[in-house]
Amino acid sequence: MAHLTNTAPTAELQALDAAHHMHPFTHGAGLADKGVRIMTRGEGVWLTDSEGNRILDAMAGLWCVNVGYGRQELVEAAAAQMSELPFYNTFFQTSHVPAIRLAERLAQLAPDPLNHVFYASSGSEANDTNLRLVRTYWEMKGQPQRKAIISRWNAYHGSSVGSGSLGGMKGMHAQGGMPIPDIHHIDQPNWWSEGGDMTPEEFGVARARQLEQKIEELGPDTVAAFIAEPVQGAGGVIVPPETYWPEIQRIVDKYGILLIADEVICGFGRTGNWFGSQTMGLRPDVMTVAKGLSSGYQPIGGSIVSDEIASVLGGDEFNHGYTYSGHPVACAVALENLRILDEEGIVTRVREETGPYLKERFESLVEHPMVGEAKIVGLMGSIALTPDKAARAAFAADAGTVGLICRERCFANDLIMRHVGDRMIVSPPLVITKDEIDTLIERAWRSLDEAMAEVEAQGLM
Ligand code: PMP
Repeated sequence: MAHLTNTAPTAELQALDAAHHMHPFTHGAGLADKGVRIMTRGEGVWLTDSEGNRILDAMAGLWCVNVGYGRQELVEAAAAQMSELPFYNTFFQTSHVPAIRLAERLAQLAPDPLNHVFYASSGSEANDTNLRLVRTYWEMKGQPQRKAIISRWNAYHGSSVGSGSLGGMKGMHAQGGMPIPDIHHIDQPNWWSEGGDMTPEEFGVARARQLEQKIEELGPDTVAAFIAEPVQGAGGVIVPPETYWPEIQRIVDKYGILLIADEVICGFGRTGNWFGSQTMGLRPDVMTVAKGLSSGYQPIGGSIVSDEIASVLGGDEFNHGYTYSGHPVACAVALENLRILDEEGIVTRVREETGPYLKERFESLVEHPMVGEAKIVGLMGSIALTPDKAARAAFAADAGTVGLICRERCFANDLIMRHVGDRMIVSPPLVITKDEIDTLIERAWRSLDEAMAEVEAQGLM
């Protein structure tokens, strides 16, 4: 049997990586010069790298390892399913037990009336499904002119052509011919950076009203759907003002357009409820799920849709699907993962214990001289780095320069935090303990001190 555990020196692996492996969202030559960090093991919230360092993963991989690393039950669920039926498809009038059981479970967990699942293998694929699904829904309802989908600048919905177009990352749109037609963007509810003189409450309403303006501008009967993350993740964990979502819900209800909640990060306990829509009080027609559905142990995603959408789409053939839609091994692992989240009370613990504890500790970071605000919902949070808190000022250097310095200091202190521009993010495994939260905050504080010394030495502050 081939062994993938580390037997080679780090430098040799780094050279091979540089020679043959192209990394997502990475400056290839820059990384090759520096050398990748190679992860070799995981246990709970802890990673080990090829040099034997023990690192606190405050990002749960890519916001996905909700039950933590090293859960043998998930290994066993995968092995058992692989032995029994490693693959079969769900096209051509066939199904299998894991796909059926997982769909049943997701229908139980999702808010009513979302009772039907269309499977994919990732968040990007699921949002590609949604794009075609909502337009096809309106076509089948005799309103084929409803094609427009409204999204937000700085949203992240994936990196395929469809999902990347739905997203609002200008750097992505600049490469490879995106966005595709009939996708429109409004501004994000990021009060810290864009709120000007408004109070957060005024700003939340103003940003939500942009949806109404956009619908009116496009023509209300041409709009199919609005898509948004309950809390923007990859855009920097932007927690909207409390006035934002109620106003959005009012507008989508008024115009009768579909609401797609992208729950790829917010789903499966991240915000202290099973879904971010519940935490933020929205009533979606479609939810995109992935990541925490399997805690990242298997690639799986999907669209959970309302009874109404399923019934309309069921009236004709929806010419869409993936070889791995409802992959049996991924479904079996996801089912076991949902059992763990439920039976171990992990979602409840985030809501009642670790979420409030992390909030208290995380919000104390605003006392650091370089931190302007700390925002957190459940176990996803971000801090804004600033040279001047009162003015909510940006650094003189390009956005992201200071964030990167800070992330490097975190790495050096064996803490994985991510930076988006000059915001620093945490999204740890949901099994993190209070002691581990203390360690996270200590290391974050130390890294901020070191980053600030470097920022000052470079004359950036
Ligand atoms: N939607 C959201 C909200 C995400 O955060 C992501 C991934 N970060 C995606 C979609 C895309 O998921 P994937 O990378 O699995 O395609």
